[in-house]
Amino acid sequence: MRVHRVLVDLIPPMNPDLEKLVRLHRVDSDLRRVESELAVIPRLRQEIDDRLARDRSHLEAAKAALEGSQKARRQNEASVQDLETKRSKYKGQLMEVKTNKEYTAVLHEIEGVERDIKTREDVILEEMEKAEALGLDVKREEADFKLVEADAKKEKADLDARAATLGAEAQRLGKERDEVAASVPEESLALYTRVAKQRGTGVAEARDGMCQSCHVRMRVQIWVEVRKNEQIFQCESCSRVVFYDPPPPTVVVEP
Ligand SMILES: [Zn+2]
Repeated sequence: MRVHRVLVDLIPPMNPDLEKLVRLHRVDSDLRRVESELAVIPRLRQEIDDRLARDRSHLEAAKAALEGSQKARRQNEASVQDLETKRSKYKGQLMEVKTNKEYTAVLHEIEGVERDIKTREDVILEEMEKAEALGLDVKREEADFKLVEADAKKEKADLDARAATLGAEAQRLGKERDEVAASVPEESLALYTRVAKQRGTGVAEARDGMCQSCHVRMRVQIWVEVRKNEQIFQCESCSRVVFYDPPPPTVVVEP
C-alpha cells in the first residue's frame, strides 16, 4: 500500500473581534433572509384566497344563470296555465253568444290567447334547452372548483408549515444574534450598528482588492493589511468593516 502525505496550507487566525463581527454579520444576514421570507407568507396566503374567491364567483355565476333560466321557465309555465284557463273561459262563452258578431269577437280572443300560449311554449322549450347546457356548466364549474379548493387547501397547509419552520428558525437566529452581539466589544458593536443602520449591512467581504458590497477598489497597502485579518479595517468608501475570506485550504497529495 502506498502512503500519501497530506499537506495543508494553514490559515492565520482572524482577529477575534473581527471574527465575532463577521459571525454577527452572517447571523444578521440569515435572520434578515428568514424574516423577509416569513413576511411574504401572508401575501401568498391572500393570493390563494383571492384565486379561490374568483373561482367561487365563476361557480356562483354559473349557478345564477341556471337559476335564472329555471325561473323564466316556471314563470312562463304559470302564464301558460293562466292563459289556458282564459281560453276555457272564452270557449264557454262561445256557447252562450247570441250574435255572429259576438261569436267572431270571442273567437278572435281565443286566437289571441292561443298565439300567446304558443309564444310562451316556445320560450319554455328554449329555456329547457338552455337549462340543460347551463346545468352542464354548473357541473363543470363545481368539479373545477373542487379541484381548485383542494389545491388551495394543500398550498395553504404547506405555507403554514413553512411559516412555522421559518418562525422557529427566526427565533433561533434571534437568540444566536443576541448571544454573538453580547460577545462583541462595545466599541466594535457600536461601529457595526452605526454602519448597518446607514448601509443595511455592517460588514463586507473584501476580495480581489475590492470591497464586495460597494465594489470600490481598495488602496494596495490597505488590501495587503485587510488580507491578514489581523485588525478591524473599514472600507474607505462605504465604511463597512471588511474581512478577507481565504480560499479553502489546498490539499496537496504527494505520491
Ligand atoms: Zn465598501
